[in-house]
Amino acid sequence: MASSQSYEVTVVGGGLGGLTAALALRHRGLRVTVLEQAPQLGEVGAGIQTAPNASRVLLGLGLRRQLEAIHTEPLDQVRRRWKDGSVVGLTSLGRRCKEQFNAPYWHYHRADLHRVLMDACVDPAGPGPVVALHTASKVVELDRTDPARPVAVTDDGRRYTSDVVIGADGIRSQVRDLMGAPDTLLFSGEMAYRALIPGELIAADPATRWLVDRYQSTIWYGPDRHLVHYMIRGGEFLNIVACVPCTDEVAEKWSVAATAQDLVDAFPGWDDRVPAMLSKAKEDVSCFALYHRRRDPVWQDGRVALLGDACHAMLPYQAQGASQAMEDAAVLAEELGAVTTDGIEAALRRYVDRRAKHAGMVQDASLQNKTFYHFPDGPEQRARDEKLRRDFDGESD
Ligand code: FAD
Repeated sequence: MASSQSYEVTVVGGGLGGLTAALALRHRGLRVTVLEQAPQLGEVGAGIQTAPNASRVLLGLGLRRQLEAIHTEPLDQVRRRWKDGSVVGLTSLGRRCKEQFNAPYWHYHRADLHRVLMDACVDPAGPGPVVALHTASKVVELDRTDPARPVAVTDDGRRYTSDVVIGADGIRSQVRDLMGAPDTLLFSGEMAYRALIPGELIAADPATRWLVDRYQSTIWYGPDRHLVHYMIRGGEFLNIVACVPCTDEVAEKWSVAATAQDLVDAFPGWDDRVPAMLSKAKEDVSCFALYHRRRDPVWQDGRVALLGDACHAMLPYQAQGASQAMEDAAVLAEELGAVTTDGIEAALRRYVDRRAKHAGMVQDASLQNKTFYHFPDGPEQRARDEKLRRDFDGESD
């Protein structure tokens, strides 16, 4: 619903968090400009999951039709032991999420989800004024000479004046630095390979055919590493995320190109189905050092506030980073949409109050999964697996 007085918000960063925020603010009738440093708006070629908490936000923005056209729904989540693939945990997702949480658990290609958000931002038939999206606009300075009208300045000297600036500029947020927030970045000691495997290759090989018989979100647990895979685009690709100890090279460079063979080599001695699957990866495998942020409640200074990885980057060990950014977006829009310019700072404080503690808990839980997923063979691993087996929910769709 549009507020009675529209004012201007500049969102720095056109990632999944920034665009969800822009769209949510538009729904509240605010005038939004997004400044994105990249020459083109887009996302990496990989998958993303939205659990019901994030699906609910996206559906609340009126995107059901668009999301139904791009999603893949896993029936359940299965946890397997590294050595022999034995199932240690099974949680139903499909029907149960909709019944229990009234929202679905969906998978997408990131580029598709990003495109849906981008199109909705500029759809002339949408609610509120269309969002102004500017690419090749790297913000390098915040001019707060007038604290009520902060100015985001780009590296080529353009100045964007508005009533609020939101830093949705990711884990290495510049807005965060310019705001004077503390340095909370931590290196996890781990890295993640991301890869896509064509579904037709998976279906053609009897050793991997089982992956297309039932769409599952799968996590393999092994000593000091784990592997996640799930189908996207209705089976066009199997998305792979493989988390292993980080090499010095990747730690220093943050990201490097890799190959299917690197992926296979990262899982020596694992169940035969693992190399059979990983060897089929398309050649553009990438590998990222995994950094995250220490819990930190400083998300706001005057009329500048942070959102997403800029304030609560977390390990992807619960698949919640973007989802938490989407929750931020919904709450931010609810608070900013309810006030006139006089109430902006108080609205931002309420946004931080409502979000920081919860996102911090998710940061902590994601970090704890680093230990939980990676127990070496031995008593702790056995205790974990016994507990997971006991907690089997016993039914699936
Ligand atoms: P980003 O996506 O990093 O976007 C920031 C944007 O800001 C970028 O477009 C960048 O170019 C731009 N930018 C940066 N600096 C500037 C500047 N100075 N000026 C202008 N623009 C700038 N989360 C989930 O919810 N589900 C998952 O399944 C999931 N899987 C993951 C798997 C892996 C391997 C990893 C590493 C993460 C995963 N995540 C997942 C986490 C998720 O990817 C991030 O939390 C999410 O992308 C953060 O969104 P964001 O918009 O805050 O930041």
